[in-house]
Amino acid sequence: MKTETLAIHAGNLFKASTNDVIKPISLSTTFLRDEDGGYSGGHVYSRVSNPNRSNLEKTLAELEKGVDACAFSSGNTAGMSLFQAFKPGSHIIAPDDMYWGFKKQLQSIFSETLEFDFIDQTNLELIESYIKPSTVLIWTETPSNPLLKITDIKAISAIAKKNNLALACDSTFASPCLQNPILLGADIVMHSSTKYIGGHSDVLGGVLITAKQDDLWHAIRNIQQIGGAVPSPFDCFLLLRSIKTMPYRMRAHSENGITLAKFLEAHDAVEKVFYPGLPSHPQYEIARKQMTAFGGMLSILVKGGADEARWVVNSVKIFSQATSLGGVESLIEHRASVEGPDTKTPQNLIRISVGLEHIDDLIEDLKQALRF
Ligand SMILES: *Cc1c(COP(=O)(O)O)cnc(C)c1O
Repeated sequence: MKTETLAIHAGNLFKASTNDVIKPISLSTTFLRDEDGGYSGGHVYSRVSNPNRSNLEKTLAELEKGVDACAFSSGNTAGMSLFQAFKPGSHIIAPDDMYWGFKKQLQSIFSETLEFDFIDQTNLELIESYIKPSTVLIWTETPSNPLLKITDIKAISAIAKKNNLALACDSTFASPCLQNPILLGADIVMHSSTKYIGGHSDVLGGVLITAKQDDLWHAIRNIQQIGGAVPSPFDCFLLLRSIKTMPYRMRAHSENGITLAKFLEAHDAVEKVFYPGLPSHPQYEIARKQMTAFGGMLSILVKGGADEARWVVNSVKIFSQATSLGGVESLIEHRASVEGPDTKTPQNLIRISVGLEHIDDLIEDLKQALRF
């Protein structure tokens, strides 16, 4: 073969596996077809499926006790793919403390095609009172962002089943390690894998996991494959690498989380702590029933209003002032200013993503930043 041909084909002239212990990153966008026209390698074109994504989807489906998963290029597009699966005019019951990006998505992208209500889902009767003939989905988020509300997945699933509605749960704050909504009756679980699944603040991704292969799921798979908002093979590789340590990371996040929550609850400068692992949390008993530990997310209200909250986030040294969550490094943010002028988030609320630093150092850091 001539140089031009070799330059293209020499590296590809192999068939056998090299027996890697770790699955290599398979960047090929297209896959060889057999003589009979089949695809014995299992893949055709990488938007539709590819080895790294299939591996990630299988892993996440198993971790969430589901039967299948669709991986997406972000958490937002995972949620959007579910909303897109419903016919125009469909009605969705969403939580009042819904992840800000999804609330914006419904209000801006779906305002003319879907109907939705944002209600307090800790009140089960209220949920039932909002169900109407066009209702198709109850979307829940637990623990919620940023108020760490806990909703009773089992009880809401009973309402969904009774009324023939799908139940989806944004379980990002819990990760697949601290709760499995499918085991509690949810039909679909959603994660922003940018957060605890990735765990290192270096990859964007989202996932939906299903309890069953029904029409809704086939519609979602079609949106993923034909819409094409898929993660790259490298993203999938990074997520699979992260997942290996996730159970241990979640244990440590939860240990640091409860210790920090107790410290803050006892601190004079703190008006209130929102953490589902504290007995003072209004849904503590539900959290204990449906979660195995309480994670690394907490919010606090500081005395002294917005100015004091901003002062605290500017005074810490180990915590980084940044949005997002779920990484090994601790983050802190003044949430209302991230969400903008129309937010309902209290002005003196600080949201904390507790990382995996030593808890003594984190407590020392907050001690010097909290003034009162
Ligand atoms: C971050 C987040 C999302 C959105 O995920 P992206 O990966 O940022 O698109 C959705 N829900 C919750 C609870 C989140 O924290």
